[in-house]
This record gives sequence, C-alpha cells and structure tokens, in this order.
Amino acid sequence: MEIEIQLTNEPIGEKISPPSAAGGCGAWVEFHGVVRGEENGEKISALEYEAYPEMATREIRRLLEEISSKNPCLVAKVIHRLGTIPVGETAIYVGVAAKHRGEAIALLAEFMDCLKQDVPIWKRRALPAVSANVNLRTSGSGQSADSHRRLQKVLTLDDAISEIESRCQPLPAVRVPLAEAFGRVLRETVSAPEDFPDHDRSTRDGFAILNDDASEHFQIVDTLHAADWKPRDLKTGQAVRIATGAPLPCGNLRVVMQENAERDGDRIKILRRESGLNIRRRGEDVKAGAPLVKAGARLDAGKQALLATAGCAQPLVSPRLRVCHLTTGDEIVPPDQAPKPGQIRDSNSILIRGLMQSFPCDLEQHHLPENFEAARQLVSTLNLQPSTFNLLLVSGGASVGEKDFTRALLEWLGFEIIISQVNLRPGRPLIFGLKGTRVAFGLPGNPLSHFVCFHLFVAGALAKLTGHAASKYLRGKLADKLEDAPCPRETLWPARLEFLNGELRLRPLKWSSSGDVTCLVETNALIRVPVNQGSLAADATVDILPTAGMLDTGN
Ligand code: AMP
Ligand code: MG
Repeated sequence: MEIEIQLTNEPIGEKISPPSAAGGCGAWVEFHGVVRGEENGEKISALEYEAYPEMATREIRRLLEEISSKNPCLVAKVIHRLGTIPVGETAIYVGVAAKHRGEAIALLAEFMDCLKQDVPIWKRRALPAVSANVNLRTSGSGQSADSHRRLQKVLTLDDAISEIESRCQPLPAVRVPLAEAFGRVLRETVSAPEDFPDHDRSTRDGFAILNDDASEHFQIVDTLHAADWKPRDLKTGQAVRIATGAPLPCGNLRVVMQENAERDGDRIKILRRESGLNIRRRGEDVKAGAPLVKAGARLDAGKQALLATAGCAQPLVSPRLRVCHLTTGDEIVPPDQAPKPGQIRDSNSILIRGLMQSFPCDLEQHHLPENFEAARQLVSTLNLQPSTFNLLLVSGGASVGEKDFTRALLEWLGFEIIISQVNLRPGRPLIFGLKGTRVAFGLPGNPLSHFVCFHLFVAGALAKLTGHAASKYLRGKLADKLEDAPCPRETLWPARLEFLNGELRLRPLKWSSSGDVTCLVETNALIRVPVNQGSLAADATVDILPTAGMLDTGN
C-alpha cells in the first residue's frame, strides 16, 4: 500500500487532492475530523494537539499496514494538524483508496478507532470558549499559547524550580504510631503538655538537706528512688537519701553528693558541700505550652525522642509515599550481568533506591522495553495508573531521540507536561508533569544527570509533597580552583565538602561528562556555577547545594 503521512501546524484545507496512485482505484473514501464546539459538556473554541512527530508518523504507518493486511487497500493519505485548532477546522484528514469501497471504509473505521490509543498525538487541552477566542484573536498570547511556548522553552534553573514548587502541593497528613514516623515530616507543631522536668529533681545520688542547714551531722529520715513521689518537709539536721532523677520532697533544698558524705547507719556526716545545688528545676528544660517540634520538621531520632517525652504517640505526619521508578533503554542490563558490547549496567535504579531512603516510601522499580507500544503494554500490566502512586520517575528517554518516549508515556498516563527542558549542565532534558496531586519526572539517563536532577528537582517536589521546606543553597568558599570553560548552561558542579586539618574545605571534583560516575564516590555537594562563568578562583565564594552523604566526613 502506498502511504502518505503529514503532521502539520498549518490548517488542513477543505479540498485535498487524492494522491495520483489513487486514480483508477474503485473507491476513494475521505474522512475529515472537525473540531466540535463542545468538550465534556463545556463550550470550547479550540483544541490544542501535540505529538511526538517521528514516533507518531512511524505508528500511523505501522497501523495502516497492519489493518491493510486484513482489509487490502491501495493508497492511504493521513494529515494530522498540531497546535491550536479552532472549532470548525479539521484536526485530522484521512483518505483511503481501495478496489472496493467496503475495504476502504473498513480500514478507515479501524484506523480511526486505533489512532487515539496507539499513536502519540495528544489532545493537550480544550480552550474555553471566551478566553480561547481572546487567545486566538490576540494571535496566541493567552493561556494555551503560553503553555505551548513554555513547552518549547528551555527554562532557567530558578524558573524550573519555582514552577515545580508552586505546582506541587502537600499531600494530606496522616496520624501514625511514633515508631513509624522516622523520616516523615511533622505536620502540626507539638508543644510541651507540662513543664519539663515536671518537678524539681535531683541530678545526683546523694542526700537532700535544707539549703541553708549548716549542720555537720544529719539523721536520714527517708529514702527516695527515681520512681518515688513522697512530698514531706525537712527540719534542720534531717536528710533524705535520694537517687538521681528522684523528685525532691519539698522546696528550699540542696543535694549533697554521696561521695561527699560519710554514712554510718541512718546518720551521715557532710564532708563537703558542692557549690551547685545538684537540682534540675521544674520547667528548667521547657515550660508547659512552649513549642517542642515545629510543623514542617523532618522527624529524626532526636525529635522522635522529644515527641515520646511529650507523650505524642501518634504524631500527625506526611503520608508514606508510593513511588515508582522506571528505567528505559535496551542497552541497560542489571548489575549482576556482564554487559555485551553496546550494553551498560543499570546504576540509576540503585541510585534512586538509595536516595529515596531519606523519604519514607514504598518504591517500585521496573525496566521498560525501548518500544513505546511494548512499554505501554508493560505499564498496563504493572497497573501503574496514576491513582496508584504519588511520584513517578522515569529514567532516560527524556530527550528528543528517535526512541525517547518518556514524554509520550507520561502524556499517555494522563500527565500534563509542564517542563520539558532546563538550561542546566548536567541534565538538560528534564520532564516535569502533573496529574492532580500526582507528580512525574522524566530524568535524563546519564548517572550524573540523574543524581543532579534528583537533588535539584525531585527532592524539591518531595519536600513540597511532604510539607517540608525545600533545601536552600549554602554559601561556601572554594578550596581549589574550579577549572571550566564558559558554558551557556548553568552548571551544578560535583564537589566534596570536607574537614581537613580542622577546616571546612569545598573541593570541586573532576568530571567531564554527564555519563561520569566516579565523582559520585566523593560528591556530597553541588556547586552552582552561573551561566558563562568559566573558571572560579580558589577562595571564590559560591552557592552550594548539599546532597546525600553531606554528614559523611570520612573517605
Ligand atoms: P538517555 O537519557 O536515555 O538518552 O540515556 C543517556 C545515557 O544514559 C545513555 O548512555 C544511557 O546508556 C545511560 N543510561 C540510561 N539509563 C541508565 C541507567 N539506568 N543506568 C546507567 N546509565 C544509564
Ligand atoms: Mg535511552
């Protein structure tokens, strides 16, 4: 069958001339798919279509050939318009020539049925009637044109980050047992329910006596262990044997360490009085009602200990996330396999697994075949519909190569693509999409880009989803010169922040390509190098973003 396919941003005319090969065929059947003035019950003025042109062309051809093997036809011509298509104008035109009209009609009908499902051309959005008219009249200055332009645009790093942060919203908080709260973000401030400590308590094992009692010899009148609560008055010459942590029996006391007293039965002789009273005063640590752990704090062991002390056994925290990480690339093999020529071991899966340890989540990981159709089939069997996870990360295929289908896959899953490129090195192809509260990223496959993009973008989105403040740049001084040629992209340069001879040093690491992995051994920070900066002298003050492993000061 002779096939002609065009994807165009231009209007499709009302009269299309059939290809010359269609002349002399028994039947020439035409279909014009025209944009209607209504979408999901709403009046609209235009539809906006987008496509992966190469992949779409390939899929259309494959479909036509497959259907034609059942319904033999001679010629097919398909024109799909992309971009903004006003109501009443043609979005798709299909013409089919066959010996008999039955075959042509059958092919046309089946092709139109499969088109939506199989071909990466998407109805991005419908433009509402009023604003769309304005948009169209002002030649594309409205929302739709903006989003279209945004997708073509390479965003600056700052713009990309603020776009991500403004669009991700905190997920609803949940109450969980304190033991399950490690790493979650506290979503309500927890205050002290009472004074800490709740009574004056002894800080020593010793003897409590009146503070102003100058006697040398004392009669032991009681014994108080840590768990005892026995209020009583003391008289001059009386002492109470008291354990560390035990509440004092009354006010105006001091505790003499047992090492400074000589005991003989129920009597003691004070050898020496310490200068301090050896008492922790009620409310000395914190007063009732004072905030202990503020909303937005990520719970670590110390904060959990404080919550336990405050009796907060079921804190209100961010939910456990459901995260899916999909690798792409037919060249990728698992780490336990010897790569054949052209193959490469998968390092991104374990990288993400490690990085996600800081964010309590259930992480699923799968590898997708590098064929859009096969990948979609696998995704369908995995039940990776957006309703089943909060965050979807796709490794690789984020660029515009022939086999790069990450964006198509995300669109197919119903994500609106907000960002497709950032002016960044490493990591320019960066896809960010949203579907309601679900977030998706297409991260470049190169390991260093994967690492950098995770820290810059995914960690920021995770912070927003969990209700945590995003990481801020710190300021630091370079210990060594950072050697680089001026680059038109902003660069996040791998670096090591370390203590050397008691001093904090920021050492730029050697790397030359986003495929480099060796610098990851030492990287615990990223230096932000401005666009066209070139080299930076030792001692230059720079912005740094801490990365995982910042606390690891060893080698
Ligand atoms: P892509 O982003 O798909 O164009 O891939 C860019 C480069 O990253 C290619 O050289 C890939 O082989 C490499 N790459 C992709 N995925 C992985 C992975 N999971 N682990 C290691 N390298 C990868
Ligand atoms: Mg790839």
